[in-house]
Amino acid sequence: MSTASRIRCDLDLDARIPGRRTGWLRIPHSRHESGYGIVPVPIAVLEGAPGPTVLLTAGNHGDEYEGQVVLRDLVRDLDPARLTGRLIVLPALNLPAVLAGRRDSPLDGGNLNRLFPGDPEGGPTGMLAHFVTTELLPRATWALDFHSGGSSMEYLSCAMARATDDAALAARLEAAMLAMRLPLALVVQATQDARTLPAAGLARGVIHLACEIGGGGTLTPASVAAAEAALRGLLGHAGVLAPDLPPAPPPRLMRVAGSDHFLFATARGLFVPEVALGATVAAGQRAGRILSLDEPDRPPIALQFGRAGLVVCRRVPAQVVPGDCVAHLASEA
Ligand SMILES: [Zn+2]
Repeated sequence: MSTASRIRCDLDLDARIPGRRTGWLRIPHSRHESGYGIVPVPIAVLEGAPGPTVLLTAGNHGDEYEGQVVLRDLVRDLDPARLTGRLIVLPALNLPAVLAGRRDSPLDGGNLNRLFPGDPEGGPTGMLAHFVTTELLPRATWALDFHSGGSSMEYLSCAMARATDDAALAARLEAAMLAMRLPLALVVQATQDARTLPAAGLARGVIHLACEIGGGGTLTPASVAAAEAALRGLLGHAGVLAPDLPPAPPPRLMRVAGSDHFLFATARGLFVPEVALGATVAAGQRAGRILSLDEPDRPPIALQFGRAGLVVCRRVPAQVVPGDCVAHLASEA
C-alpha cells in the first residue's frame, strides 16, 4: 500500500520565498460529474524575515465561521513584510464541508477532525487529513486550529489545549493559551480523542493550540473580534508578528477533566434549559427538562449536572434525542 499522498500542492512548501503566495491543494476526486476532477482546497503562504512557521487552519468543520473570517482577512490584508517567520494558512480546510456549511464533508461523510492522522488511500477527507499530517505539520513549529460550536452547539470563547504528560510542552501550551486574549483557557483531559488535528500536531512536536468561539452556525461582532484577538495574541506570542493589541485581563485557566463534565439528553423531546451559557452550577443542580413532543400530558424528564462547574458550551437546537450533548462544563484547574 502506498503511503505517499495523492494530493498535489500548487505551492512549493520547501521554497522559502518572502511575500504572499496562494494556490490549491488538489485532492483527486473522480466522480460522475467530473471524471478527472479535483477538490481545490485554498492554501496561502505568507513569509517575511526568517523565523518560525505557524500553521493556521479554519473550516476543519465547515459550519464554524469565526476562524474562516479572520484567516481570509489575514491572507488578504496582512503585509508579509511585517512577519518574522512564515504563515501557512488554510481558511477553508475541509472545503467541501465549508461549501455545504456542514460539520462533515458531503463527499464522503468525513468529519475531518476525527480522521487524523488520515489515510492516503481513503476518501477525500481521509486523504486531506493525511496530507496535513505528513506535509504541513512537519513544517510547523506552532499551529492554531479554529473551531466554534458549529450548528449544534454554542461556546464561551476559549483557547484550548490537550492535556499532555510532557510538562515542558504543557507549560508552552498554557503560556500560549494565556496569550490568546480569550476569556477562558481550557486544558482538555476529557476527550482524549487522538483523531483530531491538534492531537496529530502535538504527536509530531508541534505546539498545537485550538480555540472554540461562538457557534450556532452564525457570527457575531463579539465572536469575530474574539477570533481576531486569539489570532493576533498567538502570532505575537510566537514572535512572528509584533503584538499590536491593547492590554487585556488574563484568561481564567480551567480544565475539562472527565466525562462527568458533559451532560447528555436521556429522552427524545424539547430540551428546556434552566441555566444559561456562562452560568456557574453546583453538583446535582437542574440543567433543564425534556418535554415529550407528542404526549403533552407526560411528566417532563429532568436533567441534572453531575458535578459543579462553569457552563462553557450549550446545545443550540431545542429538539434532542437520547445521546445529544446539551451542555458541558469546565472546572477549576
Ligand atoms: Zn469544530
